[in-house]
Amino acid sequence: MFQSLQLSSAITRALAEKGYQTPTPIQQQCIPLVLQGKDVFGCAQTGTGKTAAFALPMLQRLSENAGAESKSSGVKALVLAPTRELALQIHENFTDYSKYLSIKSTVIFGGVSQVNQVKALRSGTDIIIATPGRLLDLMQQGYVSLKHISCFVLDEADRMLDMGFIHDIKKIIAALPKQRQTLLFSATIPEDIIKLSASLLHDPVTVHANTVSSSSVLVNQSVFHVNKEHKRRLLSHVLSNKTVDHALVFTRTKRGADRVAKELTKQGILAAAIHGDKSQSAREKALSNFKTHKLKVLVATDIASRGIDVAGISHVINFEIPEMAETYVHRIGRTGRAGVEGNAWSFCSDDERTYLRDIQKLIQMHLPVVNHPFEQETNK
Ligand code: AMP
Repeated sequence: MFQSLQLSSAITRALAEKGYQTPTPIQQQCIPLVLQGKDVFGCAQTGTGKTAAFALPMLQRLSENAGAESKSSGVKALVLAPTRELALQIHENFTDYSKYLSIKSTVIFGGVSQVNQVKALRSGTDIIIATPGRLLDLMQQGYVSLKHISCFVLDEADRMLDMGFIHDIKKIIAALPKQRQTLLFSATIPEDIIKLSASLLHDPVTVHANTVSSSSVLVNQSVFHVNKEHKRRLLSHVLSNKTVDHALVFTRTKRGADRVAKELTKQGILAAAIHGDKSQSAREKALSNFKTHKLKVLVATDIASRGIDVAGISHVINFEIPEMAETYVHRIGRTGRAGVEGNAWSFCSDDERTYLRDIQKLIQMHLPVVNHPFEQETNK
């Protein structure tokens, strides 16, 4: 129960409206710590409920302090995220959770004009959710001051480093007050994350919420052995199954994503592709159409799909098996969320068998094989 976590009724009311009933494990662990003002190292990936784990106690603390500080004291909390999609999603969550509070949050990201973002900042904001590059840009132009930040969140820190944001992040951190609360979330803990956390966090408490088994426990996983040239026919075949109502299809390449989406559209299946070569507005449109079920299928590359959080994905389909076993775990984490069962189907051609072996080793289970009409042709 969220009430037992000492959250205000304004917050629990907003949660009830979103249909949240019980806190997820990371929320149970993290919320009390953040409320106490502790620094937290959260080892958690998207899908575990990590956003609410930091957003709810932050909102609670900010709303408790709202009376004490004047409105003019500026931005009080900063959340850094690696991608625009993730920043937008975090902002959406903050907006939902603060529905009954008078706390304002603003989202800042690159690839679009800065005019509206500057306008929003000028009109005053309590929380900024940002990608590092654009934030730094606006700081350098004098539109943002981080002098009054009391809480700083670095989300998906491992991806931030992967994407080469370390220098931007260091510059941003240098502009923060030394006296502050810091929360760092990362799905994996490589050496450079340990170093970064040691320099950033003060006497932190570590919370874990993503063992491989816990992320895959609600996902029915299976594999379809199929010749490469039959994969598209197999995809149309499985998508005709009535239980598939909202599917995220992964391909390894951008061109592959386009080809698959085009083919499905030709067959009258509502589908679109998102990848790095698409414009920001095309990606947002596809994502929002998928979220609102105007599209049944979204075809994505791994990079483009990072941080995508769409509730109610019934199926993750690996049109191609990822080369990195960890990528498989990230992919299937998009379904089977928040207590609802999901399905992960992987199409495996002969040349992908070694990747499949690596995956099975990592998740410590043997994926059941599904029989299908095209396998005889495959075995010929
Ligand atoms: P996240 O890991 O923050 O990306 O959250 C994953 C998804 O779970 C999001 O769609 C959230 O809205 C949803 N969610 C988070 N916490 C809860 C909860 N306690 N109960 C139900 N759904 C939740």
